[in-house]
Amino acid sequence: MSTLVIRCSSLGDVVLAGAVTGALAPVLFLTKAAWAPVAARLPGVERVLVLGRDAVPPVDRVVDLQGDLRGRWLSLGHGASVSHVQRADLRRRLRVWFKVGAPPAKVVARYAQAAGVPVAPAPWIHVEGPRDATLLLPGAAWATKRWPAASFIALGRALPGPILVLGGPEDEVLVGQIAEGIGPGAEAIAEAGFDATLAALGRGRLAIGGDTGLLHLCAAAGIPVLGLFGPTTSADGFWCHAGAVVELDLPCRPCSRHGSPRCPMGDHHCMEALTPALVLDRLRGAPWAG
Ligand code: SF4
Repeated sequence: MSTLVIRCSSLGDVVLAGAVTGALAPVLFLTKAAWAPVAARLPGVERVLVLGRDAVPPVDRVVDLQGDLRGRWLSLGHGASVSHVQRADLRRRLRVWFKVGAPPAKVVARYAQAAGVPVAPAPWIHVEGPRDATLLLPGAAWATKRWPAASFIALGRALPGPILVLGGPEDEVLVGQIAEGIGPGAEAIAEAGFDATLAALGRGRLAIGGDTGLLHLCAAAGIPVLGLFGPTTSADGFWCHAGAVVELDLPCRPCSRHGSPRCPMGDHHCMEALTPALVLDRLRGAPWAG
């Protein structure tokens, strides 16, 4: 019995689908071309179908983890039973706009409900390597989610090496500056595909970064992760990983669902005041930090 799983974007959402794909095997996974290399590594995924390129063959079941209009549209016409994930957009908007209401259920729990299977514990992605390096992840699609480069440099200088500074192609300058600022023992990796990134994950004994898809990818590979949360919060659905978070208790948080280009308060205090000393304190003595 084959299952079509639909999750078009983004990287973190695709990665978190690994919590249910193993139990749905064999899975055909429909996603954007950019995330196909990652989707192909999720448990139970037999084949990745690229959105707009590949036709969907006959399947027995459709599990729509997108849950929006596009997901519902893509679910049509397969003659199979269909289930959709419950989105939490309104609840999350109310928390951003009015700071009211309980946090939504975890994304993986909502995926599991849609799929009718339990949440599988990570790792969901198998990578090989010596697990000898700390991974720093400074990039983020939205500026407010980025911890300052100077803070990453100060943290990197205080941590034992080797250190790998990872990012996508758009982060090339940033990861280069941070690796150079940390000095010998730090290496920068920024690439368009995932080959070098997945190879680097095999070296990860710990990953530190903002609320990004790359951090979720590290966690999916079984790396303990330390999340640095600013405009979003760890309570609002995506955080489900081994490790810990560092975040400040501020009345303006959460100020957006996914981050934003600039801080509405103008000072970016959520990230600026989250100091390397706080992060080092959180790491000190944490058994998962290696
Ligand atoms: S300081 Fe407050 S308003 Fe500014 S980005 Fe952070 S959470 Fe949002």
